[in-house]
Amino acid sequence: MSTEHDLIIIGAGPGGYVAAIRAAQLGLNVACIEKEPALGGTCLRVGCIPSKALLESSELFEQAKNGMGNRGIRISKVELDLPSMLGQKDQTVSALTKGIEGLLKKNKVTRYLGHGRITAAGAVSVTNRENKTTELTGKNIIIATGSVVATLPGIEFDGERVVSSTEALSFSSVPGKLVVIGGGAIGLELGTVWRRLGSKVTVLEYLNRILPGMDDELAKQSLKVLKSQGLEFQLGARVTGVTLNRKTCDVHIEGHENLRCDRVLVAVGRRPNTAELGLESVGIETDKRGFIPIDDTYQSSVSGIYAIGDVVGGAMLAHKAEEEGIACVEKIVTGYGHVNYDAIPAIVYTSPEIASVGATEEQLKESGIEYKKGSFPFAANGRARAIGHTEGMVKILADKKTDRILGAHILGPHAGDLIAEVAVAIEFCASSEDLARCTHAHPTLAEAVKEAAMAVDQRAIHF
Ligand code: NAD
Repeated sequence: MSTEHDLIIIGAGPGGYVAAIRAAQLGLNVACIEKEPALGGTCLRVGCIPSKALLESSELFEQAKNGMGNRGIRISKVELDLPSMLGQKDQTVSALTKGIEGLLKKNKVTRYLGHGRITAAGAVSVTNRENKTTELTGKNIIIATGSVVATLPGIEFDGERVVSSTEALSFSSVPGKLVVIGGGAIGLELGTVWRRLGSKVTVLEYLNRILPGMDDELAKQSLKVLKSQGLEFQLGARVTGVTLNRKTCDVHIEGHENLRCDRVLVAVGRRPNTAELGLESVGIETDKRGFIPIDDTYQSSVSGIYAIGDVVGGAMLAHKAEEEGIACVEKIVTGYGHVNYDAIPAIVYTSPEIASVGATEEQLKESGIEYKKGSFPFAANGRARAIGHTEGMVKILADKKTDRILGAHILGPHAGDLIAEVAVAIEFCASSEDLARCTHAHPTLAEAVKEAAMAVDQRAIHF
């Protein structure tokens, strides 16, 4: 006996649950399979959301401890209550994952708790923790199983002292010395959290820069700012292994002395999650990096089996997975759907935030595209001065001939919110002049975006 659905979605992360809701809105009878009791995937349970809760709490702690004297606010005794801080994070996660449960119910999506495995085209079995199996059939299947943490040869996680981002969201005490392997988004965000709470943090990065893929000028400025906050960096550091001592760890770095510390966070990327999915049963082969190859309708090599999000490659970002989930479902149901891959913002939630959309200067140079550049520093923005966050700048890149906006890169307060305006502008094929001629309220940080657009044509007013 099997239960019939129009669409079976494997995975209830941002890609899967959003696809499920959109499909239900379009009239499909949808099954959504998730092996974890809490819905929302890595992002909600052990990724974006809990890390943002800790980033906010740790920033408040740091401000209370030493950042308010210049505003005439004296606080005499500031103490860290780590269990309560972690509790607030867990409550945030719990409220949001329950919210997804409510949304699936409201949209009449049938939720299956267990591991989904494709057994044939149009057939999926769900095995729960008691090893009971439910068989589902459906004309279409979407694989939205996301990604898992990657590690390095010579390093094994022990869940205690050598950990991934998941455990680094719940350390029971503040590590005296924390080594972070990898200067990407996770390393910088979680490194910042524990530094603020009192750890001495060293980030080891293999490349000679941090944030590979982001605009180089911005990455360099970010490095300076993060160093000034007390994060330590060793660039060009290839980590080859970690040895566990009785109480400490030794991190081995090629050509350098070992680095001794209390805990190690490995943040060297993520890899697609296709384990035990039954791909071989239908003849789907992954590429050499483990991603599922798809066509421009998100369909795999097998008709009726689609894949979206981290499991297909590209930016491993929740919002990219969501857009793909919606586009995939709309293409299945209506024949149309779209994702503009030139307008997907990426944000690192340090303070100041680092945000980027569209092409970097390096990408434009590499493709031989001639461009104009306009920059505006937050130090020249009235609101940034008033709130005391003057570090960083907005940079806008536009086509030299047509003036069409090709990219924007922001280091500064609320950069992650400010970048949305430029993402919309890129989506609408706006020119830098379009942005420059729009009225931006005063005094706001968004005026820095307008001024950067004006600077593309050498006519910024306040700088
Ligand atoms: P990442 O790929 O962004 O960064 C990993 C870093 O590790 C790279 O800089 C790489 O050069 C370095 N590295 C690799 N091997 C090394 C070695 N042997 N020694 C030293 N350094 C080494 O990966 P991440 O930070 O782990 O994040 C995983 C994914 O999750 C990424 O795709 C990221 O975009 C996404 N993510 C995004 C956000 C966000 O948007 N705010 C937050 C967290 C995670």
